[in-house]
Order: sequence, then structure tokens, then C-alpha cells
Amino acid sequence: MSHYIGLDLGGTNVKCGVVDADRRVRSHLSIPTDASKGPGAVVEAMAQAALDVAKKAGIPIEKVDGIGIGAPGPLDMKRGILRAAPNLPGWKDVPIRDRITQITGRPAVLENDANAAAFGEFWAGAGKRDGVRDMIMLTLGTGVGSGLIVDGMLIHGAYDLGAEAGHMIVVPNGRACGCGQAGCLESYASATATVKRVIELLRGGEPSSLLDLFDPWEEKIEAEELRASKIIGAGKRGMKRPGLDKITAKDVFDAAKAGDALALRVVDEVATYLGIACVSLCRLFDPQMIVFAGGMILAGDFLFDRVREAFRKQTWKVVESKVEIVQAVLGNDAGFIGAAAVAWNAARTGALKG
Ligand SMILES: [Zn+2]
Repeated sequence: MSHYIGLDLGGTNVKCGVVDADRRVRSHLSIPTDASKGPGAVVEAMAQAALDVAKKAGIPIEKVDGIGIGAPGPLDMKRGILRAAPNLPGWKDVPIRDRITQITGRPAVLENDANAAAFGEFWAGAGKRDGVRDMIMLTLGTGVGSGLIVDGMLIHGAYDLGAEAGHMIVVPNGRACGCGQAGCLESYASATATVKRVIELLRGGEPSSLLDLFDPWEEKIEAEELRASKIIGAGKRGMKRPGLDKITAKDVFDAAKAGDALALRVVDEVATYLGIACVSLCRLFDPQMIVFAGGMILAGDFLFDRVREAFRKQTWKVVESKVEIVQAVLGNDAGFIGAAAVAWNAARTGALKG
């Protein structure tokens, strides 16, 4: 039985696990990223975590067939270099792959973290089913991450910048996106965008039950006051309430589920944009599955029934669409499982270096 280690480098934590060729997690652990110590120390800590997680699984490191590293981009995948990372200040041209190999003695492969998570979900999660070869994953969180698997392989493009479905433009001259474009899907369908839209409507003076919980005049309430307000019962008019900047996507979905018209309208808007994105992705790639991941899937079928409905309304009618629009199943483990799956795939295709 072959074994692979997956490392998932995040801004807050590094998640790490041993996964066997039967797609079972044999051990896993998580360490703080401690980015303030600089890239050298973080990469060494990642290598140590790989050694520790192998030990935890009772597998000698030399019996590990390869290590997959999922990292935020942009990357130079051929050379195994992390070129820059928005969430890790000071990281520039870090030779992460070769350094991990140097310390652990095992061959390694570097992959974009959203791609790795998608490949994990394909290999061991929602897509783990006979006959699934074409799958797209969209991760709805702070942004909209994505990974495209076509005939069992991840799409990277010519410059390792693919595939960023979150930055497909869905509205001409639309909302500004952090990437520099305007009108990206991410600016209309991420958790951040959902909350921003609700705040915009509330500030515009629209009525909503959310105003029973959040006060448009109280933008930055102190933590102490917040705690006190909970004791005396926040949520009633006239009581101290946190500002609109404390609204989360969960608050929006809760309000919508309770029938709040404003929240419902925003959820319907989000579902419409996601439906449009699904239609465009189907026309381009004809996948068997579109899988949604990230914090927003906690909204469940309340959101995804609407996405499926928006898809059904807008998709072509020349032939019946067979695509399944479903939720991911691996949760936060998708990153390290996916990184291990990428190593498994690289070993299989002879792309594992070291
Ligand atoms: Zn963008």
C-alpha cells in the first residue's frame, strides 16, 4: 500500500495528514502558521509536521511515496516555487517544494490550494464515485475559489494561473474585485459579497429584521459593551446592538430562512449569479458534477435548491442537463487530503520530483 502526505498551507494554520492509496486518512495534525517568523521557519515547521504526521500514522518516512503541498498562489509549479502570497506578507519566490524534499528526503509536488482542495473532493469526497472524470468545485468563502478537473486532471493553464472561475466576469462594469477586474463572480457570490450587499441595502434605508439585531448607527461597538448587551438581551429595539459591520453571511441566511424579505432578495441574487456561473461552466466544460464548498454551504439546500433552480431556468434547452449540483463533503480536511491526492496523481503520472 502506498502512502502520501498532504500539507495545506493556510494563513492561520498548516494542516497535514497521511492518506493511503485507498483514500483513507491514516493520521492528521494541524500547527499554527506563525507567519511572523518568516518563510524559512514556516517551511521548516511544515517539513517537521510531515515527519511528525508520518510517525503518528506509524509509517517510516522513507515508506511515504510522496508529499503534496497546497499553497496560495501565484506559483511556479514546474520549479516548485511560491511566487507571492497575499495572506503571507514577505513571501516572495520561496522554493518551498525543494526545501520540503531536502528536509524530509521525500519527493514533493506543489499545487495551488484551491486546486488541491478540488482534487481532494474529486478523489476522496463528493466526486469519489465510479465514472466521475469531470468535476468543477467552487469554494464560497471570503472569495470564490475554484478547481477544474477535466478527464481526471486538474486544469492549470499555460502560466499556472488556471482555473479561477471566481474571476469570471458576470456583470459588465460591475462591482470592483480585489483582483483588479470589475464584475467578477467573487464580487457577487462570496460570503463577503453577500454581507456587503445586505449592508448596502440596509444603509440605503430598507427595512429588515436584521435591524433588530444590528444597529446602523453603531459601527464599532466595544467587545465589553457587546458582552454586556448580550446579557441584557440584544436584539430588541432600543437595546444596545452591534454595528452592521458585525453581520455575517450566517446572519443573512438565518434572516432569509425566517422570511426576511431583504435577506431573501439577496440570497436569490447570489443564487442567480451562481446559477449563471454553473451554466457558463457547463457550456465550456460539460462536467458531471459542480461541487460547492466553503463556509456558505452551511446554508444547505436553502441556498442550493435556489442555485439549482436558477441553473434550470437559465441553462440551454437543446438537450437535458445531466450535471449534478451538490455540496462538498470533506470540509476543512479537503486541503490536506487534496494535497496528498495531488502527490498520488503526480506519482502515477511520473511528475513527482525529488
Ligand atoms: Zn476578480
